[in-house]
Amino acid sequence: MRLCIECGRAITGRSDKKFCSEMCRNSFHNKRNRRETVIQETNRILQKNYRILQGFLSGNEREITIIRVKSEGFDFNLFTSIEFSPSGEPCFYCYDTGYVVMNDCSIKIVSPSNYFSLQSKI
Ligand SMILES: [Zn+2]
Repeated sequence: MRLCIECGRAITGRSDKKFCSEMCRNSFHNKRNRRETVIQETNRILQKNYRILQGFLSGNEREITIIRVKSEGFDFNLFTSIEFSPSGEPCFYCYDTGYVVMNDCSIKIVSPSNYFSLQSKI
């Protein structure tokens, strides 16, 4: 007996059916589309964060006020990894470029070369 991949009830009819009803088919695809949207939106924000950090670096700016970073559209809620310096200071990375929070009002950007030297020390 085949079971609906959405609700688990028995399927009757054609042997290639995956869903017991139109409602289950729609529900399954809607959920999948929502999940894909969440992933795409998260990736978009991370890539934007990365571009913002890279933009400051290419302008040779490392210490930037949080207000200025936020005004560029930086989202502090998302990062790809976190590392701690020997003194326990967190460095938040977007891919290979990260930042350390200096104080209440500014961050210091850590470039990729720092990242790889940090990696080798751990
Ligand atoms: Zn079903």
